[in-house]
Amino acid sequence: MDGKAMYRLSYGLFVVTAKEGDRDNGCITNTAGQVTTTPNRITLAVNKGNFTHDMILRTGEFNVSILSEQADFEIFKHFGFQSGRDVDKFADYKAAKRAGNGIYYITEGTNAYLSAKVAGTMDLGTHTLFLADVTDGEVLDGASSATYAYYQSSIKPAPQKKEEKKGWRCRICGYIYEGDVLPDDFVCPICKHGASDFEKI
Ligand code: FE
Repeated sequence: MDGKAMYRLSYGLFVVTAKEGDRDNGCITNTAGQVTTTPNRITLAVNKGNFTHDMILRTGEFNVSILSEQADFEIFKHFGFQSGRDVDKFADYKAAKRAGNGIYYITEGTNAYLSAKVAGTMDLGTHTLFLADVTDGEVLDGASSATYAYYQSSIKPAPQKKEEKKGWRCRICGYIYEGDVLPDDFVCPICKHGASDFEKI
């Protein structure tokens, strides 16, 4: 199989947020999609390594903020390249408001948000797939939604031209692993994606 065929699947990009007690958290995902209109339901797959995953599993609620083409790389770094287990991502974060369900949604670099209640789960090994009823939502901005392809072409910083490093580059965040052989079980220290997301440079 040509693994690159998978890159042709088109995805949106989202900040998924949850709240448990006094704790707020959020992470970046490309795995939200509508599956039925009546009832209005979405699915969301979340990596079990994400702190947000455990919060959604326990509370049964989350918001999906839809990232737009106005989103800058800082949002991806803030919500994607650090863990809620280590930092409080909302401690000094100004561009967020609470939706009717009490959970934060992101107000900048986004064009809408959805609130959802979990209706069912499926264990996928590395991830949990949540099936959820959309309970609320609001359009925030007229900007186009960012696709994963748009992130790759226009949001992620371009690799340095004069780069002399040799090895493997993470397609997600640009981290470079220096060495000829990338171990199969290698995990990017910045964005936590695995060896399959690295390309030889
Ligand atoms: Fe990475």
